[in-house]
Amino acid sequence: MKGEHPLTPALPYDMAPRARAAAGDVRLRQFVERATTTRDRGRADACRAAFGDALDEVRSLAGQLRQHALDHLDTHLERFIEEAERGGITVHVAADGPAAVAICRDIAQRHGCRTCVKSKSMVTEEIGLLDGLMAAGVETVETDLGEFIVQLDGDAPSHIVAPMIHKDRTDVARAFQRELGAPYTEDPEALTRIARQHLRGVYRRADLGVSGANFLVAETGSIVLCTNEGNADFCVSGPPVHVAVAGIEKLIGRLADLSVYLKLLARSATSQPLTVYTTLIQGPRRPGERDGPREVHVILLDNGRSRLLAADTRELLRCIRCGACLNACPVYRQVGGGHAYGAVYSGPIGATITPLFKGIANYPDLPRASSLCGACHAACPVDIDLPHHLIALRRRQVRERVTGPGERLAYRVWAWWLRGARRYRVAGSCMRLLLRAMGRSMGQDAGAGGRRRWIARPLPGLRPWLEHRDFPAPPRRNFREWWRRRR
Ligand code: SF4
Repeated sequence: MKGEHPLTPALPYDMAPRARAAAGDVRLRQFVERATTTRDRGRADACRAAFGDALDEVRSLAGQLRQHALDHLDTHLERFIEEAERGGITVHVAADGPAAVAICRDIAQRHGCRTCVKSKSMVTEEIGLLDGLMAAGVETVETDLGEFIVQLDGDAPSHIVAPMIHKDRTDVARAFQRELGAPYTEDPEALTRIARQHLRGVYRRADLGVSGANFLVAETGSIVLCTNEGNADFCVSGPPVHVAVAGIEKLIGRLADLSVYLKLLARSATSQPLTVYTTLIQGPRRPGERDGPREVHVILLDNGRSRLLAADTRELLRCIRCGACLNACPVYRQVGGGHAYGAVYSGPIGATITPLFKGIANYPDLPRASSLCGACHAACPVDIDLPHHLIALRRRQVRERVTGPGERLAYRVWAWWLRGARRYRVAGSCMRLLLRAMGRSMGQDAGAGGRRRWIARPLPGLRPWLEHRDFPAPPRRNFREWWRRRR
């Protein structure tokens, strides 16, 4: 809503007003539609070129590897802590977001840090680390180009991988002119140059670097970072102190498994065979080395993840945050990107994990923000059956009485109707008559031979469905009747 931060809405969150506003913003929908379609097609082509007919087997293998890692998370955690500390990394464990922010703030204060450079990380968005450091007097600058622009605009990322998917170059030009005093230009190269010049100055004075982690390898105690702009490498090697924040689900057992994930992550996120920079951090600067931080810290964050380790939701923790399910999702495209979801994680994966992290009653709309078409499952490189989890959440909503009594009654009546063949036929005929009557009432005939009717004045309950899409009135006869007559 106006004046409200896109990712920290008042709870319980009502998705409809933001989705309606975004769906009515033609420019926004065009950006999102174009970007997601291109990315989705690129992912499909890149995966097909690399794995051909074996793609489903590779996805299944990756899913099983992730599941195995989660099934043995306790041993992987112990092993990672042991190996990381052997390499000189200080490991912290945080039960929730405020605890993680406090650990990071304490490290910054102990070292007298004044400027922090931060690379892109969803988990730091999740815990509000940037605001936490700023409040402690540490100037914190996003260095991923998209995140940097989003920060200049006082906005929030709208996509897991492409944070400024909801903006175009005119927005960037305006932000650079307004916030950096740069001359107005829409030339992408000139805009990149302006950002680079500005960020180089920040890198030079930074005394704290913060990153996320794409994976944590238990066997070697390594932090793995995958980026395309090289900004994360500046963040973790320039300043004297590096803090990495990672959810506990990022742990994998063996270094050998990493190659499977890296191949799938880059192809699913950006259609590349590999990200341009893949960095494995084993510890701080060693004696005799000229570069690198003097201290490296890892904050292992729970923040609700151990709740999801329960057998029926554990699969959701496989997610490697590639964003492919967002690009494939027709709902994400229609509502103009991630802001309509009112949460850090948007799209199908956000619609499942956000209610589980933050309470099902707080996000009643999210499990229903899906057509259950299955495109997200087909796109997911680690084979997460997202539609299954969305349905399970809807079932929980009914059980926990998040849905209102009217809706529950309506679904019960509907289920009763569907269970009897004759009842189903009678109900179908009644519904057809009703919908045809609504189409006729406006006299809107269109299509071949003028026989097509469009519903223009729907029943009150159907109105939101028809605000941004046309809905044809049903034909006079259904398929069964048409078939019987034909014979
Ligand atoms: S759920 Fe699957 S497709 Fe969606 S972001 Fe996670 S790994 Fe990618």
